[in-house]
Amino acid sequence: MKPAPFEYFRPRTLDEALSLLAEHGGDAKPLAGGQSLIPAMNFRLATPAVLVDLNGVGELDYIRHSAGEIRIGGMTRQRHAERSAVVSDQAPLIGEAMPHIAHPAIRNRGTVGGSLAHADPAAELPAVMMALNARLAVTGKEGTREVAAHEFFTGLFSTSILPGELLTEIVIPARPARSGYAFEEISRRHGDFALAGVAAVVQVNGDGVCTGARIALLSVGDRALLAERAAAVLTGQRPSSELIRAAAAAAAASDIDPSSDIHASARYRRQLANVLTRRVLTRAFERAQ
Ligand SMILES: Cc1cc2nc3c(=O)[nH]c(=O)nc-3n(C[C@H](O)[C@H](O)[C@H](O)COP(=O)(O)OP(=O)(O)OC[C@H]3O[C@@H](n4cnc5c(N)ncnc54)[C@H](O)[C@@H]3O)c2cc1C
Repeated sequence: MKPAPFEYFRPRTLDEALSLLAEHGGDAKPLAGGQSLIPAMNFRLATPAVLVDLNGVGELDYIRHSAGEIRIGGMTRQRHAERSAVVSDQAPLIGEAMPHIAHPAIRNRGTVGGSLAHADPAAELPAVMMALNARLAVTGKEGTREVAAHEFFTGLFSTSILPGELLTEIVIPARPARSGYAFEEISRRHGDFALAGVAAVVQVNGDGVCTGARIALLSVGDRALLAERAAAVLTGQRPSSELIRAAAAAAAASDIDPSSDIHASARYRRQLANVLTRRVLTRAFERAQ
């Protein structure tokens, strides 16, 4: 299939990109790595009249580390983040999850911002950013606002980005002391979208008591979901296999809303969520101790 006709612009600066988006309103779509948008256009699932190609906007392609925080520009390639020494050191959850996204050729083009803006409920990065408690900077002609990752995703393929705005930066807070992380997913073949997946960051105090847990699940709802009931089971308790089992059961029973499709039934997805949450929490607490 070929895409429907469209007008194409290749701005060189963020300001120019925002002006083009403002000028063309709802008819325009930003183009990042094109790994989701171009197939959707070829299938005529997306028919933007105007494409604003962000690939010439170099100021959105960076990874910076300052005051403990990591700042990733919206146009940073997924592969760049996967291979970054700063990211592996300060936010190793990203490196653990990244190889599950498609294949290297796709991660070479696909961007961190594009994956988050696309908001596929089966994508890895939304759940990872929620587990890391990241903040997402959204910029329009009026300025920049920051949205917590867990408030950014509003439904199936939808986010709080308004027409004319761009996701410009992802801010990952400093890695908490005595914290551990883990990511796991199940897919039919490596590189396929997951049937279910879990990202988690847990924290313990000097006595080994859990002081917080951010557990985010993917492919078990219309968006990545934060497992708040599971976190409540863990917080204030000393981790044990029974406690982890109870938290995983709470996540699978109450924190998710899976549906059935040709790949898996909702019941099977709940079972996967239970097993994966148990595995992820076990490894995360081992790393935190
Ligand atoms: C065969 C295949 C397998 C894949 N498997 C996986 C997988 O397992 N897991 C996974 O997570 N992904 C997977 N993907 C998708 C891939 O990760 C994409 O790169 C990603 O979803 C979109 O990023 P992109 O940079 O390519 O964005 P694009 O495709 O260019 O854009 C996606 C959407 O986001 C919007 N957008 C892009 N950047 C911005 C921005 N900065 N601000 C506002 N809006 C923006 C675009 O307008 C568009 O609507 C797969 C893709 C393919 C082709």
